[in-house]
Amino acid sequence: MKNRYMHPRDEILATMARIYRYRLTTTSGGNISIREPDGTMWITPARIDKGALRREDIVCVRPDGSIEGLHPPSSEYPFHKAIYVARPDLTGIVHAHPVALVAFSTSRTGLDTRLFHQARHVCGEVGFAPYALPGSESLGASIAGAFEGGVRCVLMDHHGVVVGGRDLQHAFQQFETLEFTAQTIIRAEMLGTVRYLTEEEVALPHRSAPSIESFEAGEASSEEKELRRGLSEFVRRGYQQRLLISTEGSFSARLGEDEFLITPYQMDRQTLGEGDLVVVKNGQAEAGKRASRAILNHRAVYQQHPEIGALVNAYTVNATAFSVTGCELMSRTIPESYIFLREVGRLPFGVQFTSPEKVAAAISAEQPILVLENDGVLVAGSTVLETYDRLEVLESTARALIDARALGGVLPLPDSAVTELEEKFLRKPTA
Ligand SMILES: [Zn+2]
Repeated sequence: MKNRYMHPRDEILATMARIYRYRLTTTSGGNISIREPDGTMWITPARIDKGALRREDIVCVRPDGSIEGLHPPSSEYPFHKAIYVARPDLTGIVHAHPVALVAFSTSRTGLDTRLFHQARHVCGEVGFAPYALPGSESLGASIAGAFEGGVRCVLMDHHGVVVGGRDLQHAFQQFETLEFTAQTIIRAEMLGTVRYLTEEEVALPHRSAPSIESFEAGEASSEEKELRRGLSEFVRRGYQQRLLISTEGSFSARLGEDEFLITPYQMDRQTLGEGDLVVVKNGQAEAGKRASRAILNHRAVYQQHPEIGALVNAYTVNATAFSVTGCELMSRTIPESYIFLREVGRLPFGVQFTSPEKVAAAISAEQPILVLENDGVLVAGSTVLETYDRLEVLESTARALIDARALGGVLPLPDSAVTELEEKFLRKPTA
């Protein structure tokens, strides 16, 4: 969503479509609003199918309280209004009942976003609003009370979540990130003890943010255009497949010896285009663009490993559950998993922010996957397709490993079967 000139009706429609499509709300649940500088509020209507919303269904409430539209505003209009009164800095609100956040809201479990630095950075601290009747003024007062504490994300007791942003896109990004964080915590709790970052660790990537020089890129070659096309296509596919979310995941692909393309810093992965990718050449980034923070690690890997042609950092729910617990991500489950993943490596927290050369030393064509403690996974491959495929296999394997716990746990493939797989599929042909 590139929203600067989008009408509030269209922005609300696009955001609701996205939430509904990824099953973060039901047809009846959830509402979205935008406040304009003059105090006019645009909000989703009451009792209209979220799967078939039209732009004329969006309701406009003027500052004097007069209503323009085909329907009454959402029954939760009172709490949207109460949040905007309490927080002049917020101009977009998303409310819904996504499954993992409902699990937190109904079990009265606090949600700590210090699971990984990106979640903390995007969502901040999460507030809590005591239960009150839906649509009531007292629910408005309860929620506004939580927002008055300065938070932007609030868990509503026995109800769901409400998120406010400096604009609607910001609200949506926090909402999506928070639900993914909640899903990851739930999966991780099934594995073992969840490790959270300290305030100091959360600050580490910001303290050691790379300063990168820039260069003026000339006309792109057809080879570069082809790679831009392929890489941006896989970033969008990764979003659709829920392997990347709007705020998370960095993908790069090699263009030359010390030259690669990488995703930009904090740009929505759903709509990423060819032109948004950043060229990095001899350690300098294309002028006018901001490269992903993963730039130094990716460069170090490409420099040390000529056979690696693409890399992706991702925070897929199930693989990340392994990264936030001490649990081993064992790949001897099915032949596909072992052949694609090999033995999965692991790096302690912090190395990726301070020592790119250690990241490069830990990954290779023979060990193409690293679980980064409290920071998702890093996956390598010879091509964009191979890397993407490996990420999919990794996430499916991680999910099966967690699910198998309910059935008594995985029995690993025996050594004899692994040796056979290595001989048949993995041994390099001898000259
Ligand atoms: Zn609700």
